[in-house]
Amino acid sequence: MAGKRDYYEVLGVNKNATDEELKKAYRKLAKKYHPDANPDNKAEAEAKFKEVNEAYETLSDPQKRRMYDQFGPDGPQGFGGGAGGPFGGQGGYYSYSSSGFDGFGDFGDLGDIFSSFFGGGFGGRSSSKRQNGPRKGADLNLRMEITFEQAYLGVEKEVTVTRNEICDTCHGTGAKPGTTVTKCGVCHGTGQVTQVQNTILGQMQTTRTCSACHGTGEVIKEPCETCRGKGTVRKQPKIKVKIPAGINDGQTVVLRGEGEPGEKGGPKGDLYITISIRKHSIFTRNGNNVMCEVPITITQATLGAELEIPMVDGSKEYYRIPEGTQTGTRFTIRNRGFKSVNSSTIGDFVFTVIVQTPKRLSKEQRELLVQLAKTMNEQPPVKKRGFFG
Ligand SMILES: [Zn+2]
Ligand SMILES: [Zn+2]
Repeated sequence: MAGKRDYYEVLGVNKNATDEELKKAYRKLAKKYHPDANPDNKAEAEAKFKEVNEAYETLSDPQKRRMYDQFGPDGPQGFGGGAGGPFGGQGGYYSYSSSGFDGFGDFGDLGDIFSSFFGGGFGGRSSSKRQNGPRKGADLNLRMEITFEQAYLGVEKEVTVTRNEICDTCHGTGAKPGTTVTKCGVCHGTGQVTQVQNTILGQMQTTRTCSACHGTGEVIKEPCETCRGKGTVRKQPKIKVKIPAGINDGQTVVLRGEGEPGEKGGPKGDLYITISIRKHSIFTRNGNNVMCEVPITITQATLGAELEIPMVDGSKEYYRIPEGTQTGTRFTIRNRGFKSVNSSTIGDFVFTVIVQTPKRLSKEQRELLVQLAKTMNEQPPVKKRGFFG
């Protein structure tokens, strides 16, 4: 997907654009590039039209926009079940018609643009009746807790997802094997019933969803016994999830096509897994840096020392602190922090030394310290019995 243009750039808006601004920009461009409006260079217009739709489809969905801002156009590398990762080709401009054009009442003429667009057979859509056509399945959301180390190294986990799956017995038709689904006799397969009423204003036509087939246009005479005619069955499959190294608390992994099944041959929904990271007993995280406090003795602080520092991956680093190190001093070990999910940079390991003042000394140690104090022209420390001796 190299060379893919930035979605904000495609729509000609800035990164902080409001929903309203996005909608406006999209509306303008969709009109401009509609293939029917560009008979002379249809191919180019089609490509632009797709691009604009894809950009809008992502940016108009708050969750997808967040993902896009976080991971960029190609999505996090190496995960996302479907082709091309979270923002791959397949989701593309198709899904917006299923994600509900109903919400954009004020689009007015745009609705017509789209119905003519699909009605014209472009992109392989056969039906211009959105209501009755393929619909993308619903997205699913899950939360997953992982350890600090797993976030650091990346991990493959299994989740159990409760979702509907296409019934194996009837392959989703809902009809008992050997029987067929027949066209609804009431609406003649359209899913809608039109009534003409005589009123004082003249004849009025009303259209409503067919109650005999609930708008599907089909009637199942002998329902499949496995799914009782629904075409889907409730299942709890275990799904492998690759969590990339460097993922941060609150970030989301998307598995394309692992959501609810689509209707009428529409694509499956997606599975969104939001990651929360368990607190670690010694490490914390600041951006991509690992932070940690390392206790040292007064002699190490005074004389300097080589410290053995535990890394998140279980290995160790040796670090020499200089003579006269003060408590609270920070040291940095380069490139031992978290990998960045969306770039090739790696954070650092930053540790703060904390000088531990000894609480129990042997007689000998105490004597040595008294000697030391004398050389520093200090008053010898008060006796143990108390301040006033
Ligand atoms: Zn079935
Ligand atoms: Zn019907």
